Amino acid sequence: MSRFYLTTPIYYVNDVPHAGHAYTTIATDVLARWYRLQGEEVFFLTGTDEHGTKIAQAAAARNRAPQEYCDEIAAQFQQAWKDLRVSNDSFIRTTAPAHARAVQSFLKALWEKGVIYKARYQGKYCVQCERFYAEDELIGGLCPDHRIPPEVQSEDNYFFRLSDFRETLLAAITDENHPQHFKIYPLARRNEVIGKLKQDVNDLSISRATLSWGIPLPWDRSQTTYVWVDALLNYLTAIGYPDDPRHVEEWWPAQLHLMAKDILWFHAVIWPALLMATEMKLPKKIFVHGFFTVNGQKMSKSMGNVIRPADLIKEFGVDGTRYLLLSAFPFGADGDFNQDLMKTAYNAALANDLGNLISRSFTMVENFCGAKVPPPDDKNRVTSRVLEELKKVRDHLERLQFHYALAAIIAAVERLNGFIEEQAPWKLAKTAPAECQSVLRELLACIKMMSFYLWPFMPDTAHAVWKQLGQTDDLEAGAKRYFVHQGPVDLAAGQVTQKDAPLFPRK
Ligand SMILES: [Zn+2]
Repeated sequence: MSRFYLTTPIYYVNDVPHAGHAYTTIATDVLARWYRLQGEEVFFLTGTDEHGTKIAQAAAARNRAPQEYCDEIAAQFQQAWKDLRVSNDSFIRTTAPAHARAVQSFLKALWEKGVIYKARYQGKYCVQCERFYAEDELIGGLCPDHRIPPEVQSEDNYFFRLSDFRETLLAAITDENHPQHFKIYPLARRNEVIGKLKQDVNDLSISRATLSWGIPLPWDRSQTTYVWVDALLNYLTAIGYPDDPRHVEEWWPAQLHLMAKDILWFHAVIWPALLMATEMKLPKKIFVHGFFTVNGQKMSKSMGNVIRPADLIKEFGVDGTRYLLLSAFPFGADGDFNQDLMKTAYNAALANDLGNLISRSFTMVENFCGAKVPPPDDKNRVTSRVLEELKKVRDHLERLQFHYALAAIIAAVERLNGFIEEQAPWKLAKTAPAECQSVLRELLACIKMMSFYLWPFMPDTAHAVWKQLGQTDDLEAGAKRYFVHQGPVDLAAGQVTQKDAPLFPRK
């Protein structure tokens, strides 16, 4: 058994969960679930980033103490992930005392390595972003993200010698044989990082003198840890750094960090450099997804078009939401969620194709087989063709191409619907009852096989299908047997099936 540690970014609690958070988190969940079925030991981490000026301001604006405010928002994230069936193994919060202690311990290690120095810093700081911007990064003098003028801030800070790591980082990214090689996907993002690393890289200010809501530096308590350093360290502190070195040894390095492209630099440059400085291993892979618009417009509070996970669940159900978010456009590219197109896609793929397949199949088994699984025979009229589609899921998921993986599942569904049309069991029931039983038997076995592939993407649907098949054992265990041991899709003859309400009512 191998270990697979994968993470979402920790989400900043200046806002309650929206569709962007859900997008990254559901994608990560699909991978976590998939690798569990492949027999890997998985650790799936998500959480919330709770320090910084913006949080202190947000709490003050609501007349709340910062911790109380963070508790409330963190709870909303946890609830949203529960509602979306996100199967994270842990949820880290940066205000947890253990995290704060671990951050201080890491900083102390950096300090002792001699990679920290004190200097005067003056720069343009976007309070919304919690970061300084170089002149050439600003657009018309404004923060490129927030379109607000940055504040000029000047103070004594502690700096991390990021520039010392520029060449090693460049080698680690570009040279596959480098001992610290790590991958960045998609390649366009990797090239972007390489391009920037080939230019000058400034040292990084890792502390603030003016911020109170954060973790004090262990050697100078008048300074607070820069919120990004605090946040990045969650990937280590969540697995027990530094108190539980054995656990860290077991799980580190992470196999995969997922994130949106706006935080690529922090993960592809600052994070590996911090790890190099303390002689720790680097994560294996970083995958960066794109930005999306909603009905052609950027999602923003001021536009009033922010979509919350609860809105999506209300409209499309849990699995409908999971399906629609991952099938709309390639993961890694920018895209648009058009609500009319989402409804069309829901009706076509889920209501008409998948929902209809399940509902008509169990209706026929009820009508023509007395709601019992017919005895096995060795007929393979459609099984190979269905399997040919389903097997593509593996390759697509290896490359995080969720939309192709889902398209392969829907193609398998369409093959089964075509098989039903072609065989017309309702006619066979009158003219050749034994043939009708054989056709429906093959159909049920294919549906069972399909439920294994559905589970990572649409766990509730997979379980509903499982129940209709009359299965009483554990779906995940069955799927693991199938994937890991190449076990057969067994289906006991005479098993009573349980037809249920349609899975995806038409919209
Ligand atoms: Zn900004």
